[in-house]
Amino acid sequence: MLRRLSAAIGSLLFPRRCVACGEYLTKDMHGICVRCRYEIPLTNYWKMADNPVKERFAGIVPIAEGSALFFYAGHSLWRTLVHKFKYGGHWHIARTMGRWYGSELRSSGRYDDVDIVVPIPLHPVKMLRRGYNQSAYVAEGIAEAMGLSVVRGVVYRRRNNPSQARRHTAERWQNIEGLFGVRHPERLRDKHILLVDDVLTTGATMTEAIRSILEAAPECRISVATLAVTRHITPIR
Ligand SMILES: [Zn+2]
Repeated sequence: MLRRLSAAIGSLLFPRRCVACGEYLTKDMHGICVRCRYEIPLTNYWKMADNPVKERFAGIVPIAEGSALFFYAGHSLWRTLVHKFKYGGHWHIARTMGRWYGSELRSSGRYDDVDIVVPIPLHPVKMLRRGYNQSAYVAEGIAEAMGLSVVRGVVYRRRNNPSQARRHTAERWQNIEGLFGVRHPERLRDKHILLVDDVLTTGATMTEAIRSILEAAPECRISVATLAVTRHITPIR
């Protein structure tokens, strides 16, 4: 009785609706309905030894594995979803998607030796303004599904750089030099780090974070997981 009552209250407070289309869910499938799961343009990169995300970093910084969950394209529902959790306060979507992604990474068997999950940090000023770091919620969802913990605060932003979105490729690269710092590198030593961000476009931000980590803790290994990736690869060299 009590359990049924608390479930009823729970569903009132957190109605089981699909985070993408808003349809009611008959049972919780990481908060995303069957139809949306079928329609989402998944990359399946996490199952491949070589894929366009890994290629984006090839010859620039060494990574062990790299993948993204879905393609960020056009004016799709999935693009709207990313905007919702990035700017619209819907951080729970980031965690829901992260959980789904984490279970895919886990079942692929390619990420079995990952030790810790590290989100790309926001600058404290941006964090205050937005109230949350969406990448940290993606990281939390992934870590939860993989049975790992999230390490925050070790990698931090030195500057509050303006958004990369409207910059040309060359400007993006100038804009990010020395962007990240690492505190307590001993917490990263000898670890296989899964570095998490929301969207991968040029890979410039991620590359700079990897460089900073490898400078501070050269013996660690790094893999990359972003929730979305642009379908067309913007050359980063
Ligand atoms: Zn749906």
